[in-house]
Amino acid sequence: MRPKISKASKISIVICTAICVAISIASAFFARQSSYDFGGFSVPVSAVNGTLQAISFLSCLIMVIVDYKVGTIVSFCVLGVSIIGSLRTILVTKDLGSLPGTINSFMYVATLAIIASQLRKSKIAEVTDKLTGQINRYGFETIIHRKIRSFEKGSIVFLHLQGLTDINTNLGRNSGDFVLKTISSRIDSVIGGIGEAYKLEGSEFAIFVREGNDCEAIVKKLISDIEEKIVMHGEDTTFNVYVTCKAGIADCISKYVNPDALMKNADIAMNHALRSDVKYCFFNEKIKKLAEREHDVEGYIKDALENKYFYLVYQPQFRLNGKKLRGFEALIRMKLPDGSFVSPSEFIAVAERSDLILKIDCFVLRRAMEEFKDILEKYDNKLILSINISAKDIALPGFADSLIHVIESIGFPKHCLELEITEYSFAKSSETTILNINTLREHDIMFAIDDFGTGYTSLAQLLNLPVNLLKIDKSLIDNICSNEANRDFVNAVIYMGHLMKCEVISEGVEDEKQLALLRELGCDFVQGYVWSKPIDYTSVFEMCRDYANV
Ligand code: C2E
Ligand code: CA
Ligand code: CA
Repeated sequence: MRPKISKASKISIVICTAICVAISIASAFFARQSSYDFGGFSVPVSAVNGTLQAISFLSCLIMVIVDYKVGTIVSFCVLGVSIIGSLRTILVTKDLGSLPGTINSFMYVATLAIIASQLRKSKIAEVTDKLTGQINRYGFETIIHRKIRSFEKGSIVFLHLQGLTDINTNLGRNSGDFVLKTISSRIDSVIGGIGEAYKLEGSEFAIFVREGNDCEAIVKKLISDIEEKIVMHGEDTTFNVYVTCKAGIADCISKYVNPDALMKNADIAMNHALRSDVKYCFFNEKIKKLAEREHDVEGYIKDALENKYFYLVYQPQFRLNGKKLRGFEALIRMKLPDGSFVSPSEFIAVAERSDLILKIDCFVLRRAMEEFKDILEKYDNKLILSINISAKDIALPGFADSLIHVIESIGFPKHCLELEITEYSFAKSSETTILNINTLREHDIMFAIDDFGTGYTSLAQLLNLPVNLLKIDKSLIDNICSNEANRDFVNAVIYMGHLMKCEVISEGVEDEKQLALLRELGCDFVQGYVWSKPIDYTSVFEMCRDYANV
């Protein structure tokens, strides 16, 4: 935030003004004498006046530099009074003796005017976004502080554009700049006289909507205008690009008197909108609590990674016919020092929004393979260890090579490893993802599509997925017995999976009725509480021993 005039600056302006006034009085006093006796030396009054004038100019210069607005006004007043005084003396005495001093004062005024104008330009540049010409974050924060100090009411809206990074990457920075300029002028034309628009960093804008306007309607209009097609002109073609937009709104009616808190609230509301299905979101206490919780959970994850609060449990998977043990899915757990647990559904979602998920995946891969290596050796390397991998990880260039390196350094049998990825992985960065998958498959590593049936993948993409196993999501299994449409869908998925030369596992199977139905539909494997909840490492050993003895 741009600071207001600091206390030190105010004091220096007061001191400089006092110096200037004292000098003017002293000059008037010396003007009555022709020379001045200084410790036995006779100093001509013109020399004394010249020195005083120089000190006065220096003080004015300091004032202008400290604060060009206040400094320029005070300096011009001081120098103006001195010029008027000199001119008056010349006219009254008809003596041109003080003319050089007067000309000097004019020169000082001109010099200060030039310096002040340069400072003004650089101050304006400091608060202006070069690309759009709108006021930048620095200026925005200063203005909001000023508005709130002067009890101006309204709403702050933060707008976040999505898709700009792709435009920059695929079409180049110039295209990204063009898109930003177009959007900025669209915003300006919606805002018009009802508020002001500011360009924050990256792909964010801020709007101040004055009280008395229908902020929600304005935000809706802003979003729809921003999301309109943008026509780009290539070398010999024209094409359309689109960006999407989400908004967060915080009202400054009377409750929020702290401008920093107000801006933070708009930011929280925008982040909430970014994370959910809504296009815009008004700040409220509920989303504030969610943001605080997310912040806490992020802290727990960092702590857990450092202090080993993470551990793994394993949930067995069975062949439906005959209940033969297929293998285990590794599932992470977080236990805090106070004995409480944070659910993986909660902390994995938080980790996925940052890069912490990469560290978690790395921890789970290592730990699970290290723990399972001995078990597998004991049971002829016939069981499968399934590990969840986030979409972010599998889309990383070089993921496959570094994983192979880890597997080899641990000495884990590659054909016993299965990675569970979601359909979303293919939507995110299909090229690198498929390259990673193919590299790993060449090393006999298997792939399962987790949460299958919950969206993202098109049928055409589905048929070409390089995977071995489809995992039907629990949400589809839950009411498979009561809902005919669900049953038909699961039936179709199993059929399609087999067409794709994949095996099919149903997860979250909780009762015998579901088991019987899935058997009827030809599902290959099951994982669920009906046969076992996730169990700890010691229990895995015991379960493997029992099954080996069957
Ligand atoms: P997921 O991969 O779909 O894991 C299956 C979840 O369903 C597990 O929950 C499991 O305990 C639960 N579950 C299995 N059978 C049943 C059942 O019959 N009934 C019910 N009610 N639940 C069942 P969990 O362990 O809480 O994990 C939740 C999600 O967290 C996982 O969903 C996965 O997306 C994520 N996750 C868990 N561990 C890891 C991990 O190590 N790495 C990553 N990247 N994600 C993980
Ligand atoms: Ca899973
Ligand atoms: Ca799942």
